[in-house]
Amino acid sequence: MTEKIKLATASLAGCFGCHMSFLDIDERILELVELVEFERSPFTDIKTIDECDVGIIEGGVANEENVAVLEEFRKHCKVLVAVGACAIDGGIPSLRNQFSLKECLVESYVDGIGVENPSIPDDPEIPMLLNKVHPIQEVVNVDYFLPGCPPSADTIWDFLTKLIEGKPLGLSTTRIRYD
Ligand code: SF4
Repeated sequence: MTEKIKLATASLAGCFGCHMSFLDIDERILELVELVEFERSPFTDIKTIDECDVGIIEGGVANEENVAVLEEFRKHCKVLVAVGACAIDGGIPSLRNQFSLKECLVESYVDGIGVENPSIPDDPEIPMLLNKVHPIQEVVNVDYFLPGCPPSADTIWDFLTKLIEGKPLGLSTTRIRYD
């Protein structure tokens, strides 16, 4: 039996929609677990990462914890894949980039509609927000980009199985067009 590929996934500043789309491969997950061993991932709830063959990142980089997780993935994964619009260009969370961080915090916690007991959280346990939300390739080198919000389950399946089997990675335009 051939050795399984080690696969890790993480969600940074995203909505978990890309992970949910991954799970939409449905019964093919049974085929996938014959090919891969899941390491750190919300699917396994493993919190640390060892040497991995493939790392999949959902979400952009919005806080210091996101930076640390992303750098750990880059350090340990031979191949790093940006999955979805948030990882590739910041996506919805990056809409805040048109405002200063202070403006965003004040609007969210002080001046926003329905805010009671206005106070900007400052618990040291909360990861420090970055001034802007960044695509992951602004922080680490990325090997592959899988566009979509989210990429469909079929797109993720096609990409992963080709990558695992060492086949050419070209995806049909119908898999990566959204107009
Ligand atoms: S790309 Fe879309 S589905 Fe994926 S994390 Fe971002 S908002 Fe969610």
